[in-house]
Amino acid sequence: MSLWIYPGSFDPVTVGHMNIIERAASLSGRLIVAVLRNTGRSPIFTMEERLELLRLATSGIPGVTVESFGGLLAEYARLRGASAVVRGVRRASDYEYETQMALMNRRINPGMDTIFLPAEPAYAPLSSTVVRDVGMLGGDLTGLVPDAILDRVQKKLRAMN
Ligand code: ADP
Repeated sequence: MSLWIYPGSFDPVTVGHMNIIERAASLSGRLIVAVLRNTGRSPIFTMEERLELLRLATSGIPGVTVESFGGLLAEYARLRGASAVVRGVRRASDYEYETQMALMNRRINPGMDTIFLPAEPAYAPLSSTVVRDVGMLGGDLTGLVPDAILDRVQKKLRAMN
């Protein structure tokens, strides 16, 4: 059994993220879903909301814990004793950006590697941005975010318009 970290902003968590979480947790045995504190963009969902939504959505998946982190990902992984960081790759541009990050993270923490999981084709067009845009315009988010959090996400986004 190993420990991996899945970092992201999860603003909010989507079924695309859930697919990566399930696959990564079953491969590693233990997975920390880590919500970035120091993102340049200002999130729609507060840190507390993003953590709670992730906890609700992942409560049935063995080996998964959810927490927030700030600072350097490679240092955080070292602190937690994680052997790898996992990232989902949806398209070629994701891969280009992600390899750059992966190389820099290995420079900082040579004991850690990056695992790329290809997005399920059905989820490849999905992002938190798409969910926010559709939700704020009153669209139905069924099938885009996990059922366990559908009402909460839908309500908050509709109220923002
Ligand atoms: P970022 O803020 O860096 O875009 P996100 O919080 O959106 O990160 O996502 C975190 C991780 O999840 C990234 O590795 C991203 O590529 C991956 N991801 C996002 N959406 C999907 C999806 N639909 N299918 C697979 N992976 C995804």
